[in-house]
Amino acid sequence: MAITKVWLDESENECSMCGACEAVCDAVFEVPEKAVVKEGVDFAAYEAEIKEAADGCPVAVIAYAVDGASARAN
Ligand code: SF4
Repeated sequence: MAITKVWLDESENECSMCGACEAVCDAVFEVPEKAVVKEGVDFAAYEAEIKEAADGCPVAVIAYAVDGASARAN
């Protein structure tokens, strides 16, 4: 089981630009305005941090896929 994709799902809520995800894992997330997921990152190396960031996102927009199956926090 490995995280293979990370993205923002803003179909219900918008990123509030709080910066929490970047504080948890700046290897994967940066928040210049809205959060963006960096390209070229080996997400499998940051699984715990990605899950923590997704769980901690106050508007639950961080989504990730584990071995191709989508998951979303909250
Ligand atoms: S934690 Fe969520 S709301 Fe806050 S900057 Fe990251 S994606 Fe946006």
